[in-house]
Amino acid sequence: MLLTVVQIENGEITPASAAALTAAHHLDDHVEAVTFTAPTEVPSSFTATPQPGETRATDTATDTPADTPTDTATDTATDTAADTATAAATATATPTGSAHATGSAHAVDVSAVIPAEAAALLTASGVATVHQVVLPANPAPEHWGEAMAQLIRHLSPTGVLAEATDRGNELMAHAAARSNLPLATNCTTIIPGDTWQLTRTRGGGVLLEDAELDAPVKLATVAPGPSPADATAVAVVPVEVRAFTPELDHVRAYARFVERTDVATGVTLASARVVVSGGRGVGSADGFAILERLAELVGGAVGCSRVATNNGWRPHSDQVGLTGTRITPDLYIACGISGATQHWVGCMDAKRILAINTDPEAPMVTRAAYAVIGDVHQVLPAVIEEIERRRHSET
Ligand SMILES: Cc1cc2nc3c(=O)[nH]c(=O)nc-3n(C[C@H](O)[C@H](O)[C@H](O)COP(=O)(O)OP(=O)(O)OC[C@H]3O[C@@H](n4cnc5c(N)ncnc54)[C@H](O)[C@@H]3O)c2cc1C
Repeated sequence: MLLTVVQIENGEITPASAAALTAAHHLDDHVEAVTFTAPTEVPSSFTATPQPGETRATDTATDTPADTPTDTATDTATDTAADTATAAATATATPTGSAHATGSAHAVDVSAVIPAEAAALLTASGVATVHQVVLPANPAPEHWGEAMAQLIRHLSPTGVLAEATDRGNELMAHAAARSNLPLATNCTTIIPGDTWQLTRTRGGGVLLEDAELDAPVKLATVAPGPSPADATAVAVVPVEVRAFTPELDHVRAYARFVERTDVATGVTLASARVVVSGGRGVGSADGFAILERLAELVGGAVGCSRVATNNGWRPHSDQVGLTGTRITPDLYIACGISGATQHWVGCMDAKRILAINTDPEAPMVTRAAYAVIGDVHQVLPAVIEEIERRRHSET
């Protein structure tokens, strides 16, 4: 049996998770899914039915702090039953404090946990059982990883697939370390067998690696790939959902939830058609004002290199590259950015690149479709002036 971790957002399985689901469907006839949820999301119709051979936790005390904000559930990977969750459900359906080192499992009402569309895609992908892992409020990556490790021990699958996103890779890395198992990340193809033959991306996508994965339980994350199975193409059969409550009291978390930042609305770095990005050549945080002005004029977003984030000139959410955001705009305007490989992998899928740089030999300049060799502080004001002049003459 193969496990696949699915993340559900706004009632749907995310495209990245759907890719992992599709891969799992092609790898194994028997696929079961895993979702994660916070205690407040456990539905009121939770029915505690011990599985054969399992002892049910009798301690129903909840570890949900009294001052836990009611919206903390949205910080978890899944947001499946937030609407149906009630305080009463939390109090009665959270068997934390269990004495069982490997957690406990119970059947739950599917309709309250898995939205219809997600359930349809699961069944279209051959999944009949979903394990819903109940996490504490505001879980740290260590909680996710330990929970997954306990589920692996509990179910003994042949392998586990998850999406190759930051979250999927982090979850699986923690689970692998805690299970003493190897993990192959960012796989683009997996050929099953006693050992799995893999192709996976390295170096942020600039390199493809062929590898073999040989382990009692094979762990891999799947890069976005072919479209998932058509959920409407098959009759929807009931999905059985089993709640799994891991024992996490002993987990020491090194990361903790500090604050929630609203996802940016409007033009974002990831979706902008034009990105005006700055690096060391911009010189300071104040130096970005001119980039912001240009971005505003062309309806674009501002990005930056890691030097700019390291220097505190811009937030990390603006960073383009291997450890930032990968972008695919129509036009990428790289101002005072050398074009180091780690930056390049984040912008190389732009349709066109305009480099503004004092160095004609900079990699960004030699790879760009257009280049202006000059000081960004002279070139950008001239560009802005010209755009404004033309707009004025049009009106
Ligand atoms: C594991 C790892 C991950 C990384 N991830 C990322 C990542 O996600 N994103 C990222 O960006 N980097 C990343 N880096 C860092 C990367 O290797 C480079 O150090 C970084 O991209 C360089 O930033 P830069 O181009 O702004 O600075 P520099 O390389 O110093 O280049 C500055 C450029 O500005 C030009 N310049 C200087 N003054 C002016 C001026 N007045 N007008 C015009 N041009 C001027 C120079 O000619 C030069 O080309 C990573 C590194 C590692 C090791």
